[in-house]
Amino acid sequence: MASGSGSLMWFRKGLRIHDNPALEYAAKGTRFLYPVFVIDPHYMEPDPNAFSPGSPRAGLNRIRFLLESLVDLDLSLKKLGSRLLVLKGEPSEVLIRCLKEWDITKLCFEYDTEPYYQALDLKVKTGASTAGIEVFSPVSHTLFNPADIIHKNGGRPPLSYQSFVKLAGQPSWASSPLSITLSSLPHVGDVGSCEISEVPTIEELGYGESPQDCFSPFRGGESEALKRLRESIADKVWVATFEKPKGNPSAFLKPATTVLSPYLKFGCLSSRYFYQCLQDVYRNVKRHTSPPVSLVGQLLWRDFFYTVALGTPNFDQMRGNRICKQIPWNDNDELLATWREARTGYPWIDAIMVQLCKWGWMHHLARHSVACFLTRGDLFVHWEKGRDVFERLLIDSDWAINNGNWLWLSCSSFFYQYNRIYSPISFGKKYDPNGDYIRHFLPVLKDMPKEYIYEPWTAPLSVQTKAKCIIGRDYPKPVVPHDSESKECRRKMAEAYTLNQKLKGVVSEEDLKNSR
Ligand code: FAD
Repeated sequence: MASGSGSLMWFRKGLRIHDNPALEYAAKGTRFLYPVFVIDPHYMEPDPNAFSPGSPRAGLNRIRFLLESLVDLDLSLKKLGSRLLVLKGEPSEVLIRCLKEWDITKLCFEYDTEPYYQALDLKVKTGASTAGIEVFSPVSHTLFNPADIIHKNGGRPPLSYQSFVKLAGQPSWASSPLSITLSSLPHVGDVGSCEISEVPTIEELGYGESPQDCFSPFRGGESEALKRLRESIADKVWVATFEKPKGNPSAFLKPATTVLSPYLKFGCLSSRYFYQCLQDVYRNVKRHTSPPVSLVGQLLWRDFFYTVALGTPNFDQMRGNRICKQIPWNDNDELLATWREARTGYPWIDAIMVQLCKWGWMHHLARHSVACFLTRGDLFVHWEKGRDVFERLLIDSDWAINNGNWLWLSCSSFFYQYNRIYSPISFGKKYDPNGDYIRHFLPVLKDMPKEYIYEPWTAPLSVQTKAKCIIGRDYPKPVVPHDSESKECRRKMAEAYTLNQKLKGVVSEEDLKNSR
């Protein structure tokens, strides 16, 4: 048994010091503070059978991003007189053992709406409460408490962004400054027989040499997040005129958006602090854009999906999900593999999928393009399969946002204009006629003349030979003909929508209007 009573701060997301109410409460009035992160082997250990490096649940880029975030957190804790205690095992078992061993009287962790954490937290809370330990689990990952919004809406989540924004109003905390700095933290007490380690390296997790072609340019951690935030908001005109979905999805040297999503995902950056910084900019400019297109509007999209996800049973699947249209998607694993492995023969689509694999991040409209192509645009593969690929490979992979956007893009929920299909040829060309993005991520096409770069199969053989890229040998032919397949997809969607309406027995006016 350790030498005295203390608090345990359990980090999961929320990997930051600034605006961290759970950490602040844990540190208050205690002799010892134990800041803990538990490595769950299921999440971290290599999967030798996966099609790209990583664990069954996370690609290597995200695992690396997490480790970098933990190293940064440990450094920040050390500056405050503490340190991060890293443990390994099934999190609830490890936690409950630590609570006993260290004679903990107060357990603090950030509230999480994800089903995985809801189940885990229930186990830990029950264990802690039975032992008479105080549990403090505040909402600080989102701008609003999703449960409050659902409550305000009579027990159901609002299903449109506009109604969400109306219900949400101004966040209650927005008028007073958030707590951004801490000057010191209580010492870590005796750790007894619990096996504590430093933050492991990627090699120590069993990954050997990290493959060069899987290296995200984005480094994890709160320090990096705050630097990136400062750089983004320094350009006040850019912030004030930010308008999504305008912006170039093919810009990769300097992305058109903030690339703060991985930092928000792991909580290296507080969304509330981000929101306050944006409000400061808005106060100092004459005019600025507004939701849904502004940067604050983007943060509200994030909260919107968190709210709907919390209030919708089976949100992450088609069956049993009351807000999801039932569509007879195919389960064609061969088609799925061509998409996942960047072999569709459509350079715009394949380049985006390579960026996903190599960087773990792509622009929002690039995500639109590939999600539409896989589902209702061309291949008619189930959105859950595409969701799984994104969930594993994105460094910003976020349960509520990812599922919400796949529901949206597949026209299964929220958005119903299935006639509007992204062309895998002309959409990218509009932004990047020279095909620089494609040349960068698909070097096999780097010498293809710009006239053919979006449709290399139309290049005469002499041109292919000169470009050292023979279609069908060095780069694949199109997996499906877009013109006829997209028509067929529209037909199947129309049929499915009609059936859904018949099954419901009511024709929703909104659906009819939107599907025209
Ligand atoms: P900015 O434009 O700079 O926006 C700032 C922040 O607002 C983002 O960091 C993000 O937290 C939030 N945000 C922006 N757009 C959205 C949106 N449409 N929905 C919800 N929140 C938003 N985003 C994720 O964070 N995780 C995911 O797993 C994810 N999966 C997606 C899957 C599909 C099929 C699609 C189409 C989009 C997905 N998005 C996801 C939403 C969006 O593409 C990313 O949040 C955005 O591209 C991140 O880049 P950014 O930080 O530069 O965004």
